[in-house]
Amino acid sequence: MSGRERVFRTEAVILRRQDLGEADRLVVAYSPDRGKMRLVAKGARRPKSRKAGHLEPFMRAILLIARGRELDIITQAEAVETYPALRSDLQLVGQASYVVELLDRFTLDEGGSRSAYSLMLEALGRLAEGRPASAVLRYYELRLLELMGYRPEFFRCVQCLAEVRPEGQYFSPALGGVLCAGCGRGHPGARPLSLEALKVLRHFQRSGFEAAAAPEVRPTVRQEVEDHLEAYLTHLLERRLNSPRFLRQVQALEMRSDRASHPVGDRASSRLRTPEGHPAGDPEGEPAAAG
Ligand SMILES: [Zn+2]
Repeated sequence: MSGRERVFRTEAVILRRQDLGEADRLVVAYSPDRGKMRLVAKGARRPKSRKAGHLEPFMRAILLIARGRELDIITQAEAVETYPALRSDLQLVGQASYVVELLDRFTLDEGGSRSAYSLMLEALGRLAEGRPASAVLRYYELRLLELMGYRPEFFRCVQCLAEVRPEGQYFSPALGGVLCAGCGRGHPGARPLSLEALKVLRHFQRSGFEAAAAPEVRPTVRQEVEDHLEAYLTHLLERRLNSPRFLRQVQALEMRSDRASHPVGDRASSRLRTPEGHPAGDPEGEPAAAG
């Protein structure tokens, strides 16, 4: 046999799953060495299925996979990390779903990235430990953007390349960075960016997680930072974004969440907005959500 082994074992995080036929599931999982995989879990919806409990969204599992004619088949699944803490409340479910969805949206089918996989696991682990969701998610977004080749520019004006002075600066999602006051004024799509938010973005981009998460950030500034990154991510992912069902679920989740106690983190999963009128028919677009 050349190259393609018939059966292989790999670790993966489950990104999403959907029903397939009468009793099966289609599982989309991300492996550090094989990347995104579309797999069939036969019989996973039968009550007695032994695989089913190991193939829930954002679980980390060891999979034994057999090559199939069209789709490969999961023959065994054993969860190594189920993140019970993340399943204990709807906000955390939404935030963890967002973490895996972001990786899902940014990656194509071929080739894995160990770094992306580690980033995802780190973010899930920090959420499970109860670290502030806002810091965990912003840090994850910025690192993932960098890894995927979309590092936003926060120091030089993306138009005239001058160093941005702290006065009247803007952020352009389309250009992927800051605009100086002169270039940003009247620039289509440019969003005013406060000095405080710019400082937070720079600090997150340059620091390790512990340092990034340390300073207290005012809720309005946290929100502004979140909004700018959301606008940038939405711009980048617009064509691939296709998750209206996920968004409806998250909206429902937001309505139930207690905003008073978590003024920023609870909005985490609302970031990936689908543009109005975006077609919704992608059969693989069904995302990982609270099942
Ligand atoms: Zn400029």
